[in-house]
Amino acid sequence: MTPARSHAPSADRGSQGSGAAIDRAPRLLASHDAESLTAALEAHGTASAARSVAAKVLRHVFREDATTWDDDTLRALDVGGWARPFLLTMDVAPSLEIADQVPSADDTVRLLLRARDGALVEAVLIPGPARTTLCVSSQVGCARACTFCETGRLGLARQLSAGEIVDQVRIARRIWRSAGGDPALSNLVFMGMGEPFDNLAEVLRATRLLTDGRAFGLAPSRVTVSTVGVIDKLPAFFAGTRAELAVSLNAPDDRRRAAIMPIGARFPLAALREALDRTLPAGRRVLFEYVLFEGFNDAPEDANLVAEYIRGLRCRVNVIPSNPGPDPSLRPPSPDRIDAFVARLSACGVTTLVRRPRGRDVGGACGQLAGARRLAVLR
Ligand code: SAH
Repeated sequence: MTPARSHAPSADRGSQGSGAAIDRAPRLLASHDAESLTAALEAHGTASAARSVAAKVLRHVFREDATTWDDDTLRALDVGGWARPFLLTMDVAPSLEIADQVPSADDTVRLLLRARDGALVEAVLIPGPARTTLCVSSQVGCARACTFCETGRLGLARQLSAGEIVDQVRIARRIWRSAGGDPALSNLVFMGMGEPFDNLAEVLRATRLLTDGRAFGLAPSRVTVSTVGVIDKLPAFFAGTRAELAVSLNAPDDRRRAAIMPIGARFPLAALREALDRTLPAGRRVLFEYVLFEGFNDAPEDANLVAEYIRGLRCRVNVIPSNPGPDPSLRPPSPDRIDAFVARLSACGVTTLVRRPRGRDVGGACGQLAGARRLAVLR
């Protein structure tokens, strides 16, 4: 069966290998959003019937969390015979399995997940008193090579499909629910392995399903996509989603930023700022992440430079004391020094929050996600 070409998720290529096997391989339902599923169903029935069946199917699989179906299930959902044979060619089982599940002393759970081709990615479940957040990966590895980040050391192995991104949420939600998890999983951050803007089409497709009221129903304002600052993708990001944007700043000038983030050499800070000014839609804001490294970017004067840089932009700053990463010379500042940095930013009128490290003891904190390298450690 040939999918409607313009709408078929390119995604499954990532999970099913490449080449001639694609068309014969079962296709992941989770790699669809409502629009692409409706379009695929329209090849078999009318537009309005397709829309109605797509809604039923999304609700059944993603809201009610079904992982298998057969003709009887679809009949019971009142799906007509015109649509059932097509739907039964689709794959509703999760595309990832749990390879390792490691609880941290602070209740964070690091999940190592294995794709069908053996690729390993990590997701981190972060329960909180007010909200429960899942940190998801967008790629297997990452090409951006930030010197302080464990994932950056892996290089890019491959993209994740939209379905593989969605399935991190399906799996984590199931784990959290079966643990009687409260509060419910409501927040999602693309701050796991990978650079989301280097896999933007799949990230946006996944985000559409995750924020679709018929499927997961997450509020777009509770989904945050974090980028190193691939500025040429900003227009597509803002056009494609109402999710929040986070930008990893991490240094107050080009020299220092390029020394730890290769993207800094390609897009200087002035270009990043200009692109944000030009593309940020009215009413939206930016979250800047600023990882603090002792003696590198943590001086109060550096806080002044940051405040100057972001002046006039609707934004907040998240200060992240660095977690142990691949470069042992990069360490977090002392608590006093962190406080002084934050105090200076606040004094400049910047809304600032310190991100308390979560899951550090199990390697689940920011910048510690190592994917396949993890298994070498386990063995
Ligand atoms: N590629 C995206 C998303 C993944 S990283 C990005 O860079 O934004 C998510 C956040 O973790 C980024 O802000 C990154 O700067 C931060 N991070 C990476 N390594 C870290 C480390 N060793 N300690 C603290 N934060 C780190």
